[in-house]
Amino acid sequence: MSTLDVERIRSHFDFPATGRVVTNNAASTQPPRELIELLGRLAPWYENVHRGQSAASRRTTALFESAYDTIASWLNAPSRRCIATYRNTTEAINAVMYSLLTSFRDGDNVVTTMMEHNSNYVPWHALCREILPRFGRRVECRIARFRADGSLDLDHLASLIDQRTKLVCCTGASNFFGAKPDLAVVRRLADAGGYPQPTGEHRALLLVDGAQLVPTTAVDVQALDVDYLAFSFHKMLAPFGVGVLYAKEHLLDHDLPFLYGGDMIAEGRVTPTSVAWNDLPWKHAAGTPNILGVIVSAQALRLLVDLVLPTAFFSSWGPLPRVAIEETMTRVARHTAALTAHCMAGLREINGLRPYGPEQRTPLVAFTIAGVSPFAVAQALDRQGVESRAGCHCATLAHHALGLDPPASCRLSFALYNTFDDVDRAVAALRTIQPAATDALPTGRSTPAVR
Ligand code: PMP
Repeated sequence: MSTLDVERIRSHFDFPATGRVVTNNAASTQPPRELIELLGRLAPWYENVHRGQSAASRRTTALFESAYDTIASWLNAPSRRCIATYRNTTEAINAVMYSLLTSFRDGDNVVTTMMEHNSNYVPWHALCREILPRFGRRVECRIARFRADGSLDLDHLASLIDQRTKLVCCTGASNFFGAKPDLAVVRRLADAGGYPQPTGEHRALLLVDGAQLVPTTAVDVQALDVDYLAFSFHKMLAPFGVGVLYAKEHLLDHDLPFLYGGDMIAEGRVTPTSVAWNDLPWKHAAGTPNILGVIVSAQALRLLVDLVLPTAFFSSWGPLPRVAIEETMTRVARHTAALTAHCMAGLREINGLRPYGPEQRTPLVAFTIAGVSPFAVAQALDRQGVESRAGCHCATLAHHALGLDPPASCRLSFALYNTFDDVDRAVAALRTIQPAATDALPTGRSTPAVR
């Protein structure tokens, strides 16, 4: 029994008319029609924000600022002062890296994990191996292992954190395994290190990559007590080029900005010898932002609630109650968990197919088929109208750690608009692929035999 009226939800999207089986949602989700129409409705009144006295500029500024309030309430952040917008998760994580860059001391370390997307590993690798060495500072990048089932090895993580661990960077949900590390435990381990931060706290900072967490779970940044959390709207129905960084207010207040320039300075307070920063959150909004993208993306959150519950939050800017957000995400998670369980049951019947990740997972499953290139699997699925993704999904470390050659798997991932029929079509398409040898690892050299 579905917890969602999926047919009603699908009627808000244009893709079903094409016949596509959209099962690559961990990469990007589909835009509901209302968001595209909203862009058109905003156009006649478009003006820059914080840069004009016209009614149009005041109106656009009000909508833009309200968008920050919606994003803050979605995460249960104390206020818009904790929100910065960037292009995507990757840029938001880089913003943290550049903001903290100067405060690393010789001998510090950063701890991350083998399960990370490259956007939460490569910046830390670059910081430690490329950038800080040029300033003569040695900072180590430590990497926690995952267990055989793809869940984070918390014992190993604990063993890597010490009193010189300034920052722990951890995924909220792996885009390869679907595993969700216990962030309460990760927080406790980061605290136990006791690193003396310049802000006076004695614990490691915790950055969570929420790219797969925020679209699949109601996230409460205060309950999780994370210092930083990043996510992308293009995985949450809004492909308009917006990513979010939540950070605790005292950190945004204290941290250096990632970008410098217009609007991030206090009005009139620039002289040849001094510059004063603007109030939060605008201190972290240098240059003209993605104005319409931010407005429409925040409205995507409100529309998501309306698609799931009988509410009318879209196109308005009133408060978004916590209970509505939690109920929405609980129902979405229940529906997509049922689809994923159905998919896993189907995959278990397929000869030579090896799924990765633990039983408890976000709505995705990555797998290989013995002796068949994951790229050939994805092409075979595509020939039957089923969309998937083959590759390492930017979880390159994990693919190498598993010894996959090539470092690749094929992934199916589900969203609120997927049906059980979508899953059946994907599984039926996979059944037509003949494994080369039941227990061999994929080699990438073989081609699939399609019945
Ligand atoms: N982290 C995870 C877990 C992801 O799944 C992704 C997107 N695949 C990213 C980070 C990067 O997101 P973006 O490309 O929007 O920066």
